[in-house]
Amino acid sequence: MARWDEILSLPVQNPPTLEFSAFDLIWSKIEGHRDNMDRLALVPFARVDDFVRGESNNKDCPTRFHVEARRRRPPKMPYKPKVDGILEYILYWCSFGPDDHRKGGVVRPSRSTYIPKKKSAGRPNTKRGCTCHFIVKRLIAEPSVALIIYNQDKHVDKKGLPCHGPQDKKSVGTRAMYAPFISEDLRLRVLSLLHVGIPVETIMQRHNESVEKQGGVCNRDDLLTHRYVRIQERNIRRSNFELDEDDDVSIGLWVERNQNHVFFYEDYSDNDPFCLGIQTEWQLQQMIRFGNGRLLGFDSSFGVNKLKCPIQSLVVFNSENKAIPVAWIITPVFSRSIDIHKWMRALFNRVRTKDPTWKLAGFIIDDPLFDIRTIREVFQCSVLISFWRVRHAWHKNLMKRCLDMETRAKLSKTLGQIVKEMCKGCGNVESFDKFMEDFKECRDFMDYFKAIWCPRMGPWIDAFKTLPVSSQETSSALEFHHNQLKIRLLNEPDPFIYKRVDWLLDKLATKIQAYFWLDEYEGKDDFSRYWKDEWTSGLTAWRKSRAIPDTDVLTEGQTVKVVDQKDREIAHVVWNPGTEFGICSCGWGQKGNLCEHVFKVVWYFREKGSGSPSVSLLQFNRGLIDMLKCPPANSFIRDHAVSLAVWVNEQLRGQFGKSGRGEMVNSCTRMVVDS
Ligand SMILES: [Zn+2]
Ligand SMILES: [Zn+2]
Repeated sequence: MARWDEILSLPVQNPPTLEFSAFDLIWSKIEGHRDNMDRLALVPFARVDDFVRGESNNKDCPTRFHVEARRRRPPKMPYKPKVDGILEYILYWCSFGPDDHRKGGVVRPSRSTYIPKKKSAGRPNTKRGCTCHFIVKRLIAEPSVALIIYNQDKHVDKKGLPCHGPQDKKSVGTRAMYAPFISEDLRLRVLSLLHVGIPVETIMQRHNESVEKQGGVCNRDDLLTHRYVRIQERNIRRSNFELDEDDDVSIGLWVERNQNHVFFYEDYSDNDPFCLGIQTEWQLQQMIRFGNGRLLGFDSSFGVNKLKCPIQSLVVFNSENKAIPVAWIITPVFSRSIDIHKWMRALFNRVRTKDPTWKLAGFIIDDPLFDIRTIREVFQCSVLISFWRVRHAWHKNLMKRCLDMETRAKLSKTLGQIVKEMCKGCGNVESFDKFMEDFKECRDFMDYFKAIWCPRMGPWIDAFKTLPVSSQETSSALEFHHNQLKIRLLNEPDPFIYKRVDWLLDKLATKIQAYFWLDEYEGKDDFSRYWKDEWTSGLTAWRKSRAIPDTDVLTEGQTVKVVDQKDREIAHVVWNPGTEFGICSCGWGQKGNLCEHVFKVVWYFREKGSGSPSVSLLQFNRGLIDMLKCPPANSFIRDHAVSLAVWVNEQLRGQFGKSGRGEMVNSCTRMVVDS
């Protein structure tokens, strides 16, 4: 029993990288069977896949490991409480073994049906007698932990000679020099390209061109075969979202088959409605990468009118501050904000299992009725409110229900001022009553406002007064993401299909993930399809505005004109210049969106010193000043506040430094400290 005492007292190692290999672990030698010394380590069981991936990506000898044998204890089988009892035993073997199909090699009797091909095309010499393997045991005593026993960690054959990889002279020029399969990244790229409709021939042509350009094959991905891509294409073409005629049965089957993509599932029951949380492996990686120490945004309703179950999306923001969806929650409309703690906790645990140091800086909601307490409890971070959804709705309806630009601009300006006052802590419902009285002649808009917004303003006013408002850039990113999803998801010729949830699940996990995956892929511009409308990518309006030169802004009385960046004959007229409640005459603005022209004018005025600061900057200033005004007894808070301000300044300068915006940041910070 001494062996087990020793094993169970070893530390559980959890490297903070997405995948890790044997190099990242400290291995202990403990006496095993027949006086052999076992080389072993403990890791969290949930991270075994990360270890397998890390070991497969071994730089000196890339390969892949497959499950050669697996034994599971049936869940209800009685057992004696033994210290060495095992719940699960998995034997992973290097895919270049254990059989040896090389000339003179040994194949186990049970596998002797293999007939060597005459030609080496297809899968040339995959099995080369490699002995490298490791064992994973899940113990009854510690089911959350995996014991890895790794005694054969060299990629050699029975004679002890290298049998694949760069060390093996005989594998030069064949697949065996690299890994037996393409990398996960290339696999996802091929699937994503196929899902969005790029033909097999085009994919292969681009691939061959890039291999040629680099001067020939030099890694496993360069060996991508036409056959592989064709098979994937056929699988996609033949797959059918409808797993059963009955949608509910079909959902259950989808969940069963896609366990890897499901982080939370609860079927209909007497008390609870159906709720499903989807997150693919790639999404999880993005959540870890772009969410750690940063913001997570919530798009609380998508497709309420069209879909049987609307989508709630969680997004992170990439280096260009564009939103990437990292999880989807599908549940009927009526249960949207109930019981969010269940899926939220499951999601948080999933991320933390992969990266125990992961921590969110802030969570952005777009609905004041959302359960803020649960967010704070689960993510232990601050909660911000985003106003984009309301502004978008107001703007869109102003365009629809008011006939002239001047009236639209006046109404928008007044609404903007009311919101700003509220964020400063002043204003109440009466402000809106006065607004409706002052503009009662715009009857169509006021009828809409009274019916839709009056009953909802209470919670919004509370939220404005108590929560920080997210920045205009974030609002722009959320709005952009919402529009992208609309174009990419709701483009089916037969709208009847929207009433099936199984269609939605399938489309999200395949096509929609593919679009967002490709957004992040550098080589996407090589494919002409990428420029088609249905793709709608590129920068957010906020980022686009940064490219418009000041000389393209022409002030003209009450309005400002901004020259179109593609067609210089056109100039767009911006009303209420300098605020996010500006109204623009361009097509994108007419649909209620925040366009690059409105943002450009905001920047232009602010840099000239004549624009008013945004709500989020006002709140940020107020927060800092509150800290600076602390009584002397709390001077350490003041001290901290100053160093925080310096840190924030450095971060901003780092982000804007490249575009030469350092001065702007300095002036903002100076303003904070001076006031
Ligand atoms: Zn091997
Ligand atoms: Zn515009």
